[in-house]
Amino acid sequence: MTAFADTLISWFEDHKRDLPWRGEADPYKIWVSEIILQQTRVQQGWDYYLRFLDNFPTVKALAEAEEDRVLKVWQGLGYYSRARNMHAAAREIMAEHQGRFPNEYDKILSLKGIGKYTAAAIASIAFGLPYPAVDGNVIRIISRIFGVCEDVTQPAVVKQITEICEAQIDRRQPGLFNQAAMDFGATHCTPRNPLCSECPFKSECYALSNNLVDILPIKKKKAELKHRYFYYTMYLSDNQTIIEKRTGMDIWRNMYQFPLVETDGESTLEKPFFATREVLSHQVIHAEFFVRNVEKLPELSQNQQIIVFDDIVNYPMPKVMTEFLKKIM
Ligand code: SF4
Repeated sequence: MTAFADTLISWFEDHKRDLPWRGEADPYKIWVSEIILQQTRVQQGWDYYLRFLDNFPTVKALAEAEEDRVLKVWQGLGYYSRARNMHAAAREIMAEHQGRFPNEYDKILSLKGIGKYTAAAIASIAFGLPYPAVDGNVIRIISRIFGVCEDVTQPAVVKQITEICEAQIDRRQPGLFNQAAMDFGATHCTPRNPLCSECPFKSECYALSNNLVDILPIKKKKAELKHRYFYYTMYLSDNQTIIEKRTGMDIWRNMYQFPLVETDGESTLEKPFFATREVLSHQVIHAEFFVRNVEKLPELSQNQQIIVFDDIVNYPMPKVMTEFLKKIM
């Protein structure tokens, strides 16, 4: 074991976070936890993890579920492609791996929605394979401690960081090493105000000794956010309403909403009944809702259907829709 791995694992033994998936060896549960945590804070992810496993305790249960139900359980977590991909991958495991989670890195990596980081996390924690799981936390600690002073948004720099991790990983307990690195980045060597004065690496940390803690890791500026304006109309007639399913390659695919008109600019025509905003990774959705009580519901367009209004809660919906419904139900 390298001195770095030794120090990191000792730190982890004293400081590890208490998480529901800690000590878990079932690759399915590790997979669920890693996918949930990709874009979600631990505190929020915790409840969803328990709820998801309650609904789909095994790969088989997930594979056999209807997609609407999977999206419904995921509702509120955002980034719904994660849920759709997990569902597709569970079906792939049933069809191509006899229902057993693959135990080789390349086969795990080939599953839908699983990138290098998640494949390495599952391979190391569930199967003891020595693949470093390199996420934002690990990029930060490695660039600070080992002095990687180039733009970490570049794939070549991530590759360099991965190679440092490959040389440092504890081959006898790679899962422990990976979890220790993730926790150290998440709770100790944090983006702002890292705990340098009480750090076990303070004597060898490149960033600390060169006064670069606030500079590393170097990231080029993010692309500008795109603004989109969604105008929803809730038609009501005799306790019935119209919903439509989002299809096509866009956000919130296969989720349901009231009839929508999208523009790329703000409308000043009428004051909406309710307005909200959701910030996604590359876009900001400005959503406005209008309510129309009508004698007769308008003609249905493609992907639209009429439902009893109260049944709407049974359909998977994006967050802007649930916020609106909270206001009126
Ligand atoms: S000394 Fe500071 S910057 Fe360096 S590893 Fe420790 S917490 Fe991170």
